[in-house]
Amino acid sequence: MKILIIGGGPAGATAARLLAKEFDVTLIQDRVWDKPCGGGVKKWIFDEFSLDNSLILHLQDRVFMVYKNEKIEIPLKGDNLAIVRRLDFDAYLRNEAQKEGAKLIYGKFKGIENKKAVIEINKEKVIFEYDILIGADGVNSNLRKALNLPPIPKTITHYARTAEYKTKYCEFFFDKELGGEYYAWAFPHGDLTHIGSVDKNSFDNLCKYLNVKVKPKGYFIPTWQEDIIIQKENVFFVGDAAGQVMPLSFEGIYYAIKSAEILANCIKNNLNYQEEWNKRFLKDFNLMKKLESINKTFLRGLVVRAHKLEFVKNFSIHLWLGK
Ligand SMILES: Cc1cc2nc3c(=O)[nH]c(=O)nc-3n(C[C@H](O)[C@H](O)[C@H](O)COP(=O)(O)OP(=O)(O)OC[C@H]3O[C@@H](n4cnc5c(N)ncnc54)[C@H](O)[C@@H]3O)c2cc1C
Repeated sequence: MKILIIGGGPAGATAARLLAKEFDVTLIQDRVWDKPCGGGVKKWIFDEFSLDNSLILHLQDRVFMVYKNEKIEIPLKGDNLAIVRRLDFDAYLRNEAQKEGAKLIYGKFKGIENKKAVIEINKEKVIFEYDILIGADGVNSNLRKALNLPPIPKTITHYARTAEYKTKYCEFFFDKELGGEYYAWAFPHGDLTHIGSVDKNSFDNLCKYLNVKVKPKGYFIPTWQEDIIIQKENVFFVGDAAGQVMPLSFEGIYYAIKSAEILANCIKNNLNYQEEWNKRFLKDFNLMKKLESINKTFLRGLVVRAHKLEFVKNFSIHLWLGK
């Protein structure tokens, strides 16, 4: 059986790696890309998927929530958060897929013609046949467009890399002026710090607050909803192309990898992908969606400050750890 995967980020590369032993898998990636990202990922994914620990730039055993100049430490019950550089992390995952037998081709998905995929490779149109097509081409998925599926609901984020602000631990800023409807953040990244917020105004305020002068770039991030279509006949979507980013925390790397695992398992065992994904994640995503709504109200300050209490910290960490 021929499986064609569009997009070689964490979702597509993982799906390719897990399917390549049993099927004829081709992975299409448009470019070598250092995706704008905090690069924060649950550490145990490295053990679970036998990933090389040398990809980890920083290990974090705590993070900080900041609100009205109060800084609340949240211990993570061990070195549970890893920070990776996406340029290296994504390339590594694609390489692992190749080791399992997947064919990696650098080209750009252009559309579907007569149930075949059109890929542009070195300015030439090449036609690919498939039995199964997997869309892992991110939040702006061209494959969704080609199939006339509704776009992924999303929000803009502004992001930059700076050497002007240093932090040892990940920081999350909840003041509305800094984080808009969600939150702003600063993550250590080697010699640099990656910073981000949602709208441009909040990002500018964040820069003033951190005393940083930097020009941001805007990128979209999915805002998950339960009704997003993740399968149409023999075409499946995974990761950002399926909107599978955790509400409120905006954690996407872990869920891209885990959702790819669920999809691979469904293809191998002829299971229903939506049902299996729901079994594993629907409850958690719905709960976080509710907490995200609370975060958008006047209750935000109360909730953040409540994290000074031990049992609230424990509840949040339990929620994030998912175990
Ligand atoms: C500013 C920002 C910060 C973030 N920080 C974090 C964080 O700290 N931790 C976290 O867990 N998540 C974070 N996320 C979310 C995370 O980046 C995504 O959820 C994650 O990358 C999803 O992986 P994916 O493989 O589904 O999609 P992507 O990583 O977007 O990969 C899709 C791939 O498909 C390729 N592609 C796209 N179109 C085509 C085409 N037409 N043909 C061929 N290839 C194509 C792209 O080049 C890309 O490599 C952040 C997102 C943003 C925007």
